[in-house]
Amino acid sequence: MNNWQPMEIAPKELYPIPHIRGKLKDGRIVTCDNKTSSRPYEDDSVIISPQLSTYTEFTGDEYAAYAVLDKKIRKDGIIRTQFIVDRIDPEFRQHVFSTYQEGIENINNKIFEKNEDSCYSFGRQCEYHSLCQHNNMGKLLKKENK
Ligand code: SF4
Repeated sequence: MNNWQPMEIAPKELYPIPHIRGKLKDGRIVTCDNKTSSRPYEDDSVIISPQLSTYTEFTGDEYAAYAVLDKKIRKDGIIRTQFIVDRIDPEFRQHVFSTYQEGIENINNKIFEKNEDSCYSFGRQCEYHSLCQHNNMGKLLKKENK
């Protein structure tokens, strides 16, 4: 990534501030999040990223990027990387924050909609699957009221 000049590295305790902001050779300031992945990221992964649109709300940057490091160690010894840069559409960012707002209102009103697209996210079953889908506590423990 020789067209990239890091400007600032955010301390982890400032989450959700992203890992790095930097300047591209063409002058664009970019909010960048570092990832490791066993699969390549899609070309449109920045444009459709709620995470990066949230970060750019904090940084004020128009552009964002994913710097992706391939987790797989390959026989040829070459470590594959991707650097995907795109503009974050302000309308998409607005949509993301509307979704957050809706979620907060639902929580306050004790409305918990099921998102069944996420039951097997991150390569594993959701911890609440047994209770949510079969009304069975399974290995879950009930929190004592103090
Ligand atoms: S199993 Fe988990 S992810 Fe799926 S709908 Fe229930 S709570 Fe949501």
